[in-house]
Amino acid sequence: MIRKFLKMRSSIFQKQAFAFSAHQKHEDDEPGFLETVHTFFKQAASHTNISQDKLDLIRCPDTTLKMSVPVLMDNGQYKIITGFRCHHKHHRLPMKGGTRIAPNVDIEEVEALALLMTLKLATVEVPFGGAKGGLCMDPKQFSKTEMERVIRRYTLELAKYNFIGPGIDVPGPDVGTGEWHMDIMKDTYHTLYGLHDFNVTAVVTGKSLVAGGIKGRPESTGLGVYYCIRNVLERKEFKELRDKHGITEGIKGKTFCVQGFGAVGYNAAKFLIEQGAKLVGVEEFDGCVYNPNGIDVENLKKYLTKNKGVKGYTDFVADKHIFDKQCDILIPAAMEKAINKHNSPGIKAKLIAEGGNGTTTFEADRILNNKNVLIIPDILCNAGGVTCSYFEWLKNIEHKQPGRLTMEWEKKSKLILLEGIQKKLGENGMKVDFSSLAPEVTRGGTDLELVQTGLDSILTNAFLKVQNVTKERNVSLRLGAYIWAIERVHLCYENAGLTLK
Ligand code: GLU
Repeated sequence: MIRKFLKMRSSIFQKQAFAFSAHQKHEDDEPGFLETVHTFFKQAASHTNISQDKLDLIRCPDTTLKMSVPVLMDNGQYKIITGFRCHHKHHRLPMKGGTRIAPNVDIEEVEALALLMTLKLATVEVPFGGAKGGLCMDPKQFSKTEMERVIRRYTLELAKYNFIGPGIDVPGPDVGTGEWHMDIMKDTYHTLYGLHDFNVTAVVTGKSLVAGGIKGRPESTGLGVYYCIRNVLERKEFKELRDKHGITEGIKGKTFCVQGFGAVGYNAAKFLIEQGAKLVGVEEFDGCVYNPNGIDVENLKKYLTKNKGVKGYTDFVADKHIFDKQCDILIPAAMEKAINKHNSPGIKAKLIAEGGNGTTTFEADRILNNKNVLIIPDILCNAGGVTCSYFEWLKNIEHKQPGRLTMEWEKKSKLILLEGIQKKLGENGMKVDFSSLAPEVTRGGTDLELVQTGLDSILTNAFLKVQNVTKERNVSLRLGAYIWAIERVHLCYENAGLTLK
């Protein structure tokens, strides 16, 4: 019964994580994930004036904790699970990054993801260092109570080594974890330190609303992916970039495919469709759905949730890959190294938006650049999640909801302004009456609106800065983002006098 319940709970995202990595394995003859990220880093670094010793300082992780997490199983026996937490950089505190639960988690993956977090946070100028954690286990093999014990013990181990805390390291969700896991981590930390530290709620992000989460966090990564695509396709500041890559203006009528229909892929699709784009293909662990006339996003999501896969859905094709299908935009939103040297030559899309981390191998990146495909890199494209986590952390340490204090004042100040204008116009013989304006015009922003507009402005500003670097140094958008991020981290060390000089 418990197992059955757990099965129901296990998210589609967890399932796809294993399946995607499994079917990728047999063709995986390229450098590992960590080496791939290091290669991008080194390539970007060669376009900076930073000395090698300082580059090494920035690239290498500060500390990685590997632990054996004992968990009491329902049958009374103990199982030992290997867990990790990598503190990639202490240059800014707290550190921040997700917690991954998957059977293939290892130290290299965690360190690669933690390095990406440092770069991602620097790209969007969120003042945190990068971190990442993981538990090497298949959650489908654990009951809900067993899983709760794993998470609690993992949190205790992190606390024991001073690897967690609202001002030290603030874990968030990642593949295989969600609100429930974050709530358990928060509760464990709260139980330990709640009476000593009144900021304990800020110890993790991605929590449920009742546990101190923030509106908009679940869809934030997908929304960020959408904002990045919208910038490229619609904003005048990105016209040169569009022209350079032969991309036509406008979202309306553009076709797109998504690999991985979890939280990121589904939400990015939803926002794009709302603006008139057409979803034509979805790849899941058990095959693809492809229809050039469009796919009903909600219907497919419902089907996927109910059937734990896309097999049997209308327009289901047993192909394992969506990458060679005709479309304008491709969104890889599953696991690392999904786009590799084998499938990249067949890619037809002119724009790739990396919803997942490390989705493109070094060789694939080279092939796609030669084809003049524009790739919005992971450290910019999927930064919406951690940016929203930053808002949640701020909400928690400030002990207030974003719109609670400002909402009424915003409304009042707009009314005062309108009254003033009305009076002035009246004095000049122009009689107007603003009192009939709809309340919508003067109301203050809701929490969700503040989160979404904040996210848009942070991501769009970061994109503009990355674009500048890209132009100045004549490199790809990925290298532009890496250079921008590396130089930001370097600046932080320089200013603190903590260099190796
Ligand atoms: N897993 C998220 C990412 O890769 C970060 C989660 C968080 O700390 O908010 O960006």
